[in-house]
Amino acid sequence: MDRIVKETVGLRPFRPSGPRVEAEQMGNKLIVHNYGHGGSGWSLSWGTGNVARNLVMATPERKIAMLGCGTVGIATACLLQESGCEVTIYTKDVPPNVTSNLATGTWSPASRVCDPAVAKPGFEDIWKDATLFSFRRFQFLLGLNDITSWVDEYSVRKEAPGATEPTGGGEQFDIEGLIPERVRLSKKEHPFSADYVTRRSNMMFNIPAYLHHHLQEFLAFGGKVKIREIKKVEDIDALPEKVIVNCMGLGAKPVFNDKEITPVSGQLSCLIPQADIQYKLSTEGANFIARKDGIYMGSNGILGNWDTTPSREQTEKVVTILQDVMKNMRG
Ligand SMILES: Cc1cc2nc3c(=O)[nH]c(=O)nc-3n(C[C@H](O)[C@H](O)[C@H](O)COP(=O)(O)OP(=O)(O)OC[C@H]3O[C@@H](n4cnc5c(N)ncnc54)[C@H](O)[C@@H]3O)c2cc1C
Repeated sequence: MDRIVKETVGLRPFRPSGPRVEAEQMGNKLIVHNYGHGGSGWSLSWGTGNVARNLVMATPERKIAMLGCGTVGIATACLLQESGCEVTIYTKDVPPNVTSNLATGTWSPASRVCDPAVAKPGFEDIWKDATLFSFRRFQFLLGLNDITSWVDEYSVRKEAPGATEPTGGGEQFDIEGLIPERVRLSKKEHPFSADYVTRRSNMMFNIPAYLHHHLQEFLAFGGKVKIREIKKVEDIDALPEKVIVNCMGLGAKPVFNDKEITPVSGQLSCLIPQADIQYKLSTEGANFIARKDGIYMGSNGILGNWDTTPSREQTEKVVTILQDVMKNMRG
């Protein structure tokens, strides 16, 4: 517990029908929405950004306003620049003060992306296209100061998870063969005391360096960032651009009266970084990921909770569970 240096609670922007990625004409402005990615916004940022870019490129406008400077807004802005647009980001906050900075940072394109029972027809196909686009894009970010990397991911459990184990929503979406399958390890192949241990390779994002890198790229390409809060649609009317891309995450709720979007809060508790620990592990009730900026333990998910006050009790819970796993490892 004495190595805990940070505790944060972030709010995943969850929409049961799936992220809103569509164009809407409002007076003389075209709004291209791209928000509500739940627990998969990092993973899907390039993919839904590409869908939003296509909607923008179908118009003759090339001076574009971007609302929001989280991972979704920055990725979409960079893609628009690559297609020849001049982009100005208008945003209430910039990193580190954005939800995107409070995420775990793993490739999890289906995490709380929707409630499959109410997802729009055809959503799975849109999700697949977005996931494939993102996946390919991330491979081009490998080797750039480890902003994106591949790591070993262990699942350490008393027994195999049952098929009926509850998930956060959307996790059954999968593209077979996209990342290596989990491999069950025999007792001789792992040091844990648990009976059911699997390993696979997965991608992770070193969040602070990643956000910094992409924001700098955007600025180097001539992009502009203006600090401005959008309180109502009339504030959008006042912008000089005719095409507006909305990547405000949960912030879109009051402005566009989106009754569907709701937070799923998640707490992360951060240990001092340890360069020699370079893997990800999940077990019953807790998980951790070793990033450059710390070992992040978490994360829970509370639907409908707007409270971002970290709970010491939650930190103690994950520390105790993970300490137990480590204590019982063979030397
Ligand atoms: C604990 C936790 C763990 C997660 N782990 C993962 C993970 O491992 N992998 C993964 O893929 N995803 C993960 N996520 C999900 C991911 O973080 C989100 O889906 C993603 O951050 C959403 O990005 P965004 O750019 O849409 O929103 P944000 O980062 O919230 O950005 C919104 C932007 O809009 C601006 N804004 C908001 N309101 C206004 C306004 N009124 N006027 C002007 N500007 C405004 C904000 O200032 C900000 O710049 C996790 C989330 C949490 C909370």
